[in-house]
Amino acid sequence: MAGKRSLFGPVDPAADAGYDEDHPTRKGFFTDTSICIGCKACEVACKEWNDVPSDHFEMLGSSYDNSFSLNANQWRHVAFIEQPKRLGEQESGLRRQAVEGAVALGMPGLGAPPDVLKAEVRLPESGEDDAVDRPDFRWLMSSDVCKHCTHAACLDVCPTGSLFRSEFGTVVVQDDICNGCGYCVPACPYGVIERRKGPKGAKNVGIAQKCTLCYDRLDAGTTPACAQACPTQSIQFGDVEELRERANARVETLHEAGIMDARLYGNDPDDGVGGAGAFFLLLDEPEVYGFPPDPVVTTKDLPDMFRKAGLAAVTLLAGAAISFLGKRG
Ligand code: SF4
Ligand code: SF4
Ligand code: SF4
Repeated sequence: MAGKRSLFGPVDPAADAGYDEDHPTRKGFFTDTSICIGCKACEVACKEWNDVPSDHFEMLGSSYDNSFSLNANQWRHVAFIEQPKRLGEQESGLRRQAVEGAVALGMPGLGAPPDVLKAEVRLPESGEDDAVDRPDFRWLMSSDVCKHCTHAACLDVCPTGSLFRSEFGTVVVQDDICNGCGYCVPACPYGVIERRKGPKGAKNVGIAQKCTLCYDRLDAGTTPACAQACPTQSIQFGDVEELRERANARVETLHEAGIMDARLYGNDPDDGVGGAGAFFLLLDEPEVYGFPPDPVVTTKDLPDMFRKAGLAAVTLLAGAAISFLGKRG
């Protein structure tokens, strides 16, 4: 079992950071990407609540996404991944059913945009073979965020204590303590944290910025803004242990429905970061979503490196002393 301030292995991060036994249960996110509709309400809610500047919105050219990636001004990012794969059973795990009053929205690959007000779109009845109507194209949508790692290298390397572990087990940046050294940036195995570069006149330019898991809202007993805004409950907030059970049950449901590609990412306490506080249900390989397939906390080997550096220093000193004494003799 790992001890206090351990750098690897499954632990309760708040207890590991020294909070007493009465600390709140660990809080986090289970993001079920199979029901994300790409509305980006989570992105907007995050910006609104946390006063994150809006800049750099442009169509990517390769996708309908316009907010690029997680960065200092984008603490939530909804990826639109367009794939040459058939729509249908693999999208949500539930067979498409006739929906009263449904209208086609003219999305790419579904034919010419209809008059959405007048179009009568007949979706197939359950059991009916609708494969002929389906294009060989699908979108994967996934709302990414800081993983609030059990072992957070960003926090381990921060020299000022600006990054700290909260009593909820989350990882939070304190703007007024960060000195902008940027050590945390290369330490994060997911490329999440970044120093704010602009826009001109924005607050905290030069300061490391990322999702705080809405520490202020948790402190007040409320749900993080992004989860509150999500209309499909793709972002589910709660106790990490309970979320892990819910996620396992959801994967089972999808597998039973024939969606064998459904898998969890970041939920395993035995993985390279000791399990993420924010984990995901994916419908394809992690790399497809831009996630590293097997992330490892970058400070894992620090104790060993310090031990070796100490040994090297002692050996050098001993060599210098022997040489000095030898000359005198
Ligand atoms: S994902 Fe990166 S920024 Fe977030 S807690 Fe982990 S190491 Fe830190
Ligand atoms: S938890 Fe709060 S800070 Fe983090 S992405 Fe959601 S709204 Fe933004
Ligand atoms: S996670 Fe929820 S709020 Fe965000 S884009 Fe998906 S459906 Fe919309």
